[in-house]
Amino acid sequence: RSKSTLADIEASKVQLDLISNRKPRPDPATLSFGKVFTDHMLVIPWKASTGWGTPKIEPYGSFPIEPSASVFHYAACLFEGLKAYRHDNGQISLFRPDMNMKRMNISAQRVALPTFNGDELLELIKQLVRLDKDWIPNRPGYSLYIRPTLIASQPAIGIAPASEALMFVICSPAGPYYPDGFKPVALYGTTEYTRAAPGGIGSFKVGANYAPALVAQKEAAKHGYVQNLWLHGPEHYVTEVGTMNAFAVFRRPKGDIELATPALDGIILPGITRDSVLGIARDHVSGKAKLAGLPDDLVVSERPITMLEVKEAAKAGNLLEFFGTGTAAVISPVDKIGYLGDDIAIPTGPDGMGPISRPIWQQLTGIHNGAIPHPWSVII
Ligand code: PMP
Repeated sequence: RSKSTLADIEASKVQLDLISNRKPRPDPATLSFGKVFTDHMLVIPWKASTGWGTPKIEPYGSFPIEPSASVFHYAACLFEGLKAYRHDNGQISLFRPDMNMKRMNISAQRVALPTFNGDELLELIKQLVRLDKDWIPNRPGYSLYIRPTLIASQPAIGIAPASEALMFVICSPAGPYYPDGFKPVALYGTTEYTRAAPGGIGSFKVGANYAPALVAQKEAAKHGYVQNLWLHGPEHYVTEVGTMNAFAVFRRPKGDIELATPALDGIILPGITRDSVLGIARDHVSGKAKLAGLPDDLVVSERPITMLEVKEAAKAGNLLEFFGTGTAAVISPVDKIGYLGDDIAIPTGPDGMGPISRPIWQQLTGIHNGAIPHPWSVII
């Protein structure tokens, strides 16, 4: 069969097998991330010979898969992470979910898993979230973490592109990342391991990137730091903060302020929060959407940042902020970077944040919780 005759995902074909006894909701006060799952999940099988099969929304639970399945041996898998938020008026929204669908297809291509119609998958995700929306605790800062996943499931240990695959989407209620206000984190500049290399997989959200990062995280913890800071090459270019994108704020010689992040050069995950921070800052600079609190002459850069530059700027008092961005924490301020045996101190305000990240965080979370109406917030 030619590729064009293969079936794509079709949301209208969904079969519903709804749970008969809804599970008890977890106590929001003791909720820990990613351990409790909602009543339902979405499952869509794929076969190379026929394409995407019938989508099913069914009770969350285990499914049979043979030990020979490719995913278990060669990390033939990828995932996404996005959140559903409850607005004060009760409406539920997703934040820029089209970006997750695009990134998921790009990941699929990289590890020879099947691509799909992102609009149709999104339609099914909306349906799943609508079914389980009462799992989002009705408290400020809470959300539903949505985890779309795609694995190669063919029972064959030969290394080959997926001939069978399974798409599934599971959901987990999530509490606020900083329940007691911002707590800046201390980073350990990792020089023993690299996360990504040119031509590799660092810019794709594939499973193979994550297990090998755990030793670097453990090493950082052993030295007394909360997270590791991934560096690249002999120049020790800043790349990412644990599983977040990295931003630095510099005061430049002329006195103006620069918000800088590494460019998407192949070793950086194209974070949706990263793109949103850049978008908000650039719309402010261009005058398209001014954001109170940001300086008018803010400079927004995607460029290489070396640890030498970070260290020297900090010494001269010109490093105003360093922070990570990601769906889980939104913005995670950093107050210290351990680097080659020394600690680089980074200022943070009384609320734990800095002058540039503070208004951007307020804008982003305002969009999330519906206080600021915005096209990025997709009401479901
Ligand atoms: N970098 C890595 C390695 C990540 O896993 C993530 C989380 N997806 C991010 C950055 C942040 O991406 P996003 O803003 O889309 O959550």
